[in-house]
Amino acid sequence: MGQGVRQAVITGGGSGIGLAIARRLSADGATVLLLGRSEDRLRAAQQAVPDARIAACDVADEDSVKRVLSGFGSIDILVNNAGIVETALFLRIDDDAWRRMVDVNLMGAVHCIRAVLPAMTARGRGRIINIASTAALKGYAYASAYAATKHALLGLTRSLALELARTEITVNAVCPGYTETAIVEAAVARIAEKTGRGPEEARAALEAANPQGRLIKPEEVAQAVAWLVSPEARAITGQAIAVAGGEVM
Ligand code: NAP
Repeated sequence: MGQGVRQAVITGGGSGIGLAIARRLSADGATVLLLGRSEDRLRAAQQAVPDARIAACDVADEDSVKRVLSGFGSIDILVNNAGIVETALFLRIDDDAWRRMVDVNLMGAVHCIRAVLPAMTARGRGRIINIASTAALKGYAYASAYAATKHALLGLTRSLALELARTEITVNAVCPGYTETAIVEAAVARIAEKTGRGPEEARAALEAANPQGRLIKPEEVAQAVAWLVSPEARAITGQAIAVAGGEVM
């Protein structure tokens, strides 16, 4: 990557993993722009990352993505982190739920990459990081739609990495296991409700999926991103980096 202050866009940067990435990249000297649907959430995130710029934007809406990103100048780092999860037995996931997850988890990344790639290609350098999941690398019962979108995001990552391999643009996926964020809090509540277990027991079930017997911290995911965007990581492209305590190998 080149010299000077780098500009980074982080979708879903107002909470959880995205916010941890924003804090880390900002601490490392990047100018960060946080995107998300809720302006209130983004404003709250600005307390944690005072130099951050924010813009309300639904990544499923390509026009909105184009409008927001065209006003931010040249973008060196794109972190496609916005994501949603809805869990149910396969036969209970209707088309609307499938579309919601495809539109955000896959097409959200497509829209953002389309918006930044022409200028990145013209400059000949850049970093694209897609926050996928261990659900991009293995299946999970009750999560067929979510896992399908994350597998698709990984397929996009690998193929685009090859298309761009002769440039200084790398494209990688980071695949967290269960990580301490609102998504996991919701999963704990859902498991407790469906199984009649207490929240502690439900949380223990998620921790048990990780061979290290714990949930991942958002900062650990941010650390992997910080490495992937560093100049030293230029040989790393098309990879799926699991940050999951050994859950997949
Ligand atoms: P989170 O706190 O719920 O973060 C998701 C973020 O995405 C929110 O800030 C949300 O903000 C934003 N978002 C959702 N839909 C959006 C849209 N259409 N347009 C723009 N922003 C949108 O949960 P998280 O755990 O940090 O999740 C971040 C990413 O990590 C997701 O892609 C998730 O699939 C992935 N992941 C999480 C885990 C885990 O265990 N936590 C594990 C593996 C992978 P708004 O609602 O304001 O838009």
